[in-house]
Amino acid sequence: KKNHVRLPEWLKTDIPVGTDYNRIKKDLRGLKLHTVCEEAKCPNVGECWGGNETGTATATIMLMGDTCTRGCRFCAVKTSKTPPPLDPHEPENTAEAISRWGLDYVVLTSVDRDDLADGGAAHFAKTVQLIKQKNPKILVECLTGDYQGDLECVNHVAQSGLDVYAHNIETVEALTPYVRDRRAKYRQSLAVLKRAKEAQPLLLTKTSIMLGCGEKDEEVEQALRDLREHNVDVVTLGQYMRPTKKHMKVSEYVHPDKFAHWEKVAKEMGFAYVASGPLVRSSYKAAEFYIKHQVL
Ligand code: SF4
Ligand code: SF4
Repeated sequence: KKNHVRLPEWLKTDIPVGTDYNRIKKDLRGLKLHTVCEEAKCPNVGECWGGNETGTATATIMLMGDTCTRGCRFCAVKTSKTPPPLDPHEPENTAEAISRWGLDYVVLTSVDRDDLADGGAAHFAKTVQLIKQKNPKILVECLTGDYQGDLECVNHVAQSGLDVYAHNIETVEALTPYVRDRRAKYRQSLAVLKRAKEAQPLLLTKTSIMLGCGEKDEEVEQALRDLREHNVDVVTLGQYMRPTKKHMKVSEYVHPDKFAHWEKVAKEMGFAYVASGPLVRSSYKAAEFYIKHQVL
């Protein structure tokens, strides 16, 4: 294609398509569920859906519709002040679908729903409870918004029976107003992560940072330190990729050696698990880290 910005070698991948991938894809159609894996054209889909080296299949399912009340500058999800109402059958349908596939690890995420009184916390929590009722062995991670800082909502989700509570800070403090929707605040996100752990100390807390947005090294280091101070267990670092020309530009394609550096720094700070690399996404190898953590 013309006008196509050349990607460095380390970002080029083939998407392998296995049988599990096709089976899951077909099931999704029938159940009208949306996966981030497909919608974000995630490069790891073959590995995640087909089962990775630990033999665990992972998928990321998006709850509460495809329309967000926020508009972050890196995100391709569509935006509206008044998205359609929640589907009250979604928790049940999602739980049913997941138990049928035999996924080992599921990540539930959603758009932000600032239009709802509880931000959708009850809907999230109900989905987790039903999944665990149908199959207590499946590991559940919830990747939630910040509930505008309403920590009662965080409690509700954190106490629903999930295994991992994830909330992404996305970027360093200085770039937060530029990268994320103006309602998202760096300190507010740290408070969400801290509360999740306090509400249920047995769960793991997790966050993600995108690199390549113009952040400085000392800002990344500070963010990692802040996360540890808020008892965050797991951090992932990946490359920001511009979804369309309307979205903010990539400042830099960060070299794999730099990602390796951050992995080392974060591990030394005492995170239980760190994934850092150009293709790393929030839910990348989520099951693997969980299993390793339990073994330690
Ligand atoms: Fe799906 Fe996450 Fe795996 Fe990508 S990394 S395929 S979004 S589970
Ligand atoms: Fe995208 Fe989440 Fe921001 Fe909504 S809140 S625009 S889904 S990153």
